[in-house]
Amino acid sequence: MFGFGKEEMPAVNCPACQSSMQDMGSHGIRMGGLTGILGAGAALVGGQMADDAEEAFEKKMAVRVFVCPQCHEVSLKYQGGL
Ligand SMILES: [Zn+2]
Repeated sequence: MFGFGKEEMPAVNCPACQSSMQDMGSHGIRMGGLTGILGAGAALVGGQMADDAEEAFEKKMAVRVFVCPQCHEVSLKYQGGL
């Protein structure tokens, strides 16, 4: 829904264990809260089903999400927004 995610990203290796990270695609993160990184993480979980009216007033950031299958490290690549 953000118009991202079509281009191929180069392989991302886990910064913790150097495993090849799994590409989870593009997601929107709400940045309207004042709870910092914890709020961003919560918004990431809720973002996919967030369709409430407040959403239209929230700042959002599009990111490409990579997850390490070995140690569950998460890496976010900025793709636009804010
Ligand atoms: Zn890892």
